Amino acid sequence: MASTQTQHDDNETAEEPSEPESALQTARRQLQHAADHLDIDPSIVERLKHPKKVQEVTVPIERENGDVEVYTGYRAQHDSVRGPFKGGLRYHPEVTREECVGLGMWMTWKCAVMDIPFGGAKGGIAVNPKDLSEDEKEQLTRRFTDEIRSVIGPTTDIPAPDMGTDPQTMAWLMDAYSMQEGETIPGVVTGKPPIVGGSKGRDAAPGRSVAIITREAIDYYDKDIKETSIAVQGFGSVGSNAAKLLDRGANVVAVSDVNGGIYDANGLDTHSIPSHHEEPEAVMTHEAPETVTNDELLELDVDVVIPAAIGNVLTEANADDVAADIIIEGANGPTTTAASAIFADRDIPVIPDILANAGGVTVSYFEWLQDINRRAWSLERVNDELETEMLAAWQDVQTEFETRDVTWRDAAYIVALSRIAEAHETRGLWP
Ligand code: NAD
Repeated sequence: MASTQTQHDDNETAEEPSEPESALQTARRQLQHAADHLDIDPSIVERLKHPKKVQEVTVPIERENGDVEVYTGYRAQHDSVRGPFKGGLRYHPEVTREECVGLGMWMTWKCAVMDIPFGGAKGGIAVNPKDLSEDEKEQLTRRFTDEIRSVIGPTTDIPAPDMGTDPQTMAWLMDAYSMQEGETIPGVVTGKPPIVGGSKGRDAAPGRSVAIITREAIDYYDKDIKETSIAVQGFGSVGSNAAKLLDRGANVVAVSDVNGGIYDANGLDTHSIPSHHEEPEAVMTHEAPETVTNDELLELDVDVVIPAAIGNVLTEANADDVAADIIIEGANGPTTTAASAIFADRDIPVIPDILANAGGVTVSYFEWLQDINRRAWSLERVNDELETEMLAAWQDVQTEFETRDVTWRDAAYIVALSRIAEAHETRGLWP
């Protein structure tokens, strides 16, 4: 699971109230919060607050100018009680051990809420990939793969793309791993280009799952989708795919990228707006009756708002001004803890990231199944099965939401933690 939260203090007691929580603090707090609703062995909760293993490696490469640069890489493996570790690799200057641990924990909850037989992991290299040429990135990826080779594998730990990495990075990783093993092993990584074992529909999957969950939430709150107005922040992989799929029924009135947003109360033709990948940061070049800032977009008087760009955009400072009836978390961690509490007080449902954008890891699971069976699925099958999995997860979370009278976020964490704890109890602790 990717996140844009970049604060890295894992000292849970020394948190500045005005500072956003680190990924690890958030993950631990949400774990404890869910545990408080459940009757589970406290020793299991204690165990889940810590990673199973963190591999820290040195990754030296020779730059094109002849200098040797040394980077630090990590692979944090949180929990594998339900299956192999699964999670992204990010190349970003602020990657730290703590961040990888926190994000790996999130992946454990995300896989469990989807009932996918994987655990959680996260890794990466503290590097700015924009400073590297394509050849240098390839060298870095191949060397990093070799350094973590002993802890990854198709039945042990399966990386995927995240911030700063892409399908090409995954193809190099798969090649480097396969060359050392002496055979082609596509199942060691997901998010590859389809020509080397990637799945059709993987790129659009997180946005597709956001659209599926948005439709379910609209229906649950007795709104008519044709009468529903939606604002989407971020027009990248998640935001553009969600907006375009929702545009086939609902009225998408505002979208944005890093430069700001466009607004048309009568509905935008989202299909004619270039996504981040088609033409980066081009939303504002599209003609529309009005423009809005990213802050204004979040406060538009719409039925549904979907923050799908970065983390920590819904905060204590703007939560009271949000006018939408429903919030769907397309990005990872867009709502701070303080904002979540305000939305709970205001009775505004917030459908959490670990459910809404879980289409990515779900289709990664399909990719892994295709790889180990050496048989590719059609796009139609991928999308059908994704829909089935998303609806099942929605149903499971809805049941907890209704029976326990908790927030949607708590309901999702309760579903996830119940499954993980039951698996731990059933397997037992190695003495
Ligand atoms: P992306 O790079 O494809 O697109 C990001 C979009 O957000 C772009 O339109 C960019 O202009 C915009 N943006 C960047 N900074 C912004 C800012 N400060 N304010 C408003 N807009 C801004 O990214 P993505 O893959 O769509 O990911 C978006 C979010 O979804 C991230 O939080 C990511 O972690 C999460 N996510 C992504 C995936 C995935 O597989 N792509 C899966 C799950 C969750």
